[in-house]
Amino acid sequence: MSPLHLGKSEQDFGVCLQVVCPHCQQESEFRLVLRAGALKLFGLPVADLGGVYELICVGCKFRKDVAADELTAAQSAVRLHADLREGNLTAEQYATALDALDFPTHRALRDEAATWPCPACNEKVPAALNGCWKCNSPKPGLSKPESPVSDELPPLPNAVTRSGNSWEH
Ligand SMILES: [Zn+2]
Ligand SMILES: [Zn+2]
Repeated sequence: MSPLHLGKSEQDFGVCLQVVCPHCQQESEFRLVLRAGALKLFGLPVADLGGVYELICVGCKFRKDVAADELTAAQSAVRLHADLREGNLTAEQYATALDALDFPTHRALRDEAATWPCPACNEKVPAALNGCWKCNSPKPGLSKPESPVSDELPPLPNAVTRSGNSWEH
């Protein structure tokens, strides 16, 4: 029996990804599940959705939707993980094969879970944040703020033009 208890409307396809979970920040296994259901309007089924596919972190139950057109990639990922578990693939081969899949949800999870080290206090800050959550330092390399920038820049004062700066090496 699977340790993961699923409702009867859920079908479990097995472990799909072994990545760092952006929610619990642990290296975790994500299972691919199908939550079956029909789209109903005022109690009447208007469309058979064939279910909604989701990835679920086995650690914290964080869920991430899988788009219908990613299903082939998701099922390939399930097979890859089975190969990894059975020793047919090394961890490195698994990571490479996973990267080769056209699987945007995997990339999204990885990007969300990625962290950047704060240059000021060394805190690991989630990639989704543009500033350190401890000391408020801005993310390194974030040169352009996402605010609309006016085309009309004030004219540079003459004093700024290359005073003391050499163009030669
Ligand atoms: Zn998690
Ligand atoms: Zn910091």
